[in-house]
Amino acid sequence: MLFVSFVSFAFPVTPAGAQGKKVYISVDMEGISGVNGDDQTSAGGAEYGRARRLMAEDANAAIRGAFEGGATDVVVNDSHGSQRNLLPEDLDPRARLISHSFKRYGMMEGLDETFDAIIFVGYHAKADAARGLFAHTGSGVVRDLQVNGASVGEGGMNAALARWYGVPVVAVSGDDAAVEEVARAVPGVRGVAVKRAINTRAVELKPLAEARKDIQAASREGVQSARKPAPERLASYQVRMQFRNVIIPEVAAAFSDITVVAPDVVQFSRASMPEAYRLIRVLYRFINTD
Ligand SMILES: [Zn+2]
Repeated sequence: MLFVSFVSFAFPVTPAGAQGKKVYISVDMEGISGVNGDDQTSAGGAEYGRARRLMAEDANAAIRGAFEGGATDVVVNDSHGSQRNLLPEDLDPRARLISHSFKRYGMMEGLDETFDAIIFVGYHAKADAARGLFAHTGSGVVRDLQVNGASVGEGGMNAALARWYGVPVVAVSGDDAAVEEVARAVPGVRGVAVKRAINTRAVELKPLAEARKDIQAASREGVQSARKPAPERLASYQVRMQFRNVIIPEVAAAFSDITVVAPDVVQFSRASMPEAYRLIRVLYRFINTD
């Protein structure tokens, strides 16, 4: 009995009686204010330590905005690379942090229908975009990802999972290419371009203080005006993935109901978006291509 009450105390989800909103924040790194080089985006890079603090500052701007907009419960999911970039000591202490990349749902781990709004922070453009800092989808191995015939990047794929749960994506920050891309997948989303992508490497950075103020304002307004749509549950989810190698399709042929339609392309269909999402993630992340 003592143990049971300890457990329920240790993992509060929503404070009893709270009427406020529950907000989910997914934080990637390439689209963070001030991030402009690949020595910043992976552990061991000379400027990685700087970049993870910049990442925490953008996350904190979104957290502040969410609370100002009526949130009483905020979950932050580290969504970049190892997904162990954000340090809890750097984060606004009101938010809880989901950390480490060994997750079924990656950038959307922990999302479910109990949330009222979603904010994407630090997002980047999809693989093979003509513009957008470090444009890619999931990992470097993907050339194109299509869900039900639409080519999507990480923002579009994550938005499809959000629609499954009926939770609106209310704000996105990143470079202008990422913001435009997410806005196409999520009409009405509040976009904050914290940098202008000149190509896939050079950027013009918005001053940091202004970028964070804009993230905070978009998050506040987005959460304040969030209205939950009915969950969108299609009869099936058709996925087509084109890779930059032929190794992953060769391995993927071992999974039931995955069809290799060209040496570098696989197709499959799943009955729900969470199932499709999980398999997409396995294919781009967990197959050794050495
Ligand atoms: Zn990413």
